[in-house]
Amino acid sequence: MSVEAPPNLKVDLADASRRLESASAWDILRWSVETFGPKLTMATAFGPEGCAILHMLSHVDPDHQVRVFNLDTGYQFPETLRLRDRIAERYGIEVELVGADTTVAQFEAANGGPVYSKEPDRCCFERKIVPLRRAVVGYDAWISSIRADQSADRARADVVGWDAKFDLVKVNPLLRWSRRDVWAFVVANAIPYNPLHDQGYPSIGCWPCTRAVAEGETDERAGRWAGQAKTECGLHSLDSSQL
Ligand code: SF4
Repeated sequence: MSVEAPPNLKVDLADASRRLESASAWDILRWSVETFGPKLTMATAFGPEGCAILHMLSHVDPDHQVRVFNLDTGYQFPETLRLRDRIAERYGIEVELVGADTTVAQFEAANGGPVYSKEPDRCCFERKIVPLRRAVVGYDAWISSIRADQSADRARADVVGWDAKFDLVKVNPLLRWSRRDVWAFVVANAIPYNPLHDQGYPSIGCWPCTRAVAEGETDERAGRWAGQAKTECGLHSLDSSQL
């Protein structure tokens, strides 16, 4: 993610990125809420990282001025959708479901069946990227839950930088955290998490494109688009050809 941004941006991103690089996730979140206020938004797929950030956000943003949304592709696991309710009960944060402009039935009927099996990049584009672009109109910045050690693309991200793909500042509070750090925080704070993680799913996306990992598989994203070259839905990749 580049720190180059439009010249009229009110924040010096290069300076913020430098200062926040070694800051705690709490301080990064606090800075982003103070800097962007209601012009800050967050997308979450309810992974453990996202749930950890929501826990922090409930303290840092007690008035819920930050709008949080989930890209509801229509293909999410029921466990994921139930987690949304558990988050609302625990934190009072109502995560908005942002869907595509067609139902799954309409989408599949228009395309002669499921698109995820034949053209997963197009499926992700239409069910995730297009709704995300629409959801962030009018916002100045968004929070994501990526960690640098999840993929090569994510390793190139900055804690704070310009996201040219969506024309927003992107804030990654957990960028320097490890998977172990995340789970230690989740457990220590009894944060609600997706029960599928206890059933062999380290990373959870849509049900057609997610499988449990086998014993001995060390790549936590091995169960995502298994057997395909695809590794990202396109939200966090730097390579626009993945769209
Ligand atoms: Fe479609 Fe699979 Fe992408 Fe979900 S993860 S939007 S089902 S291709």
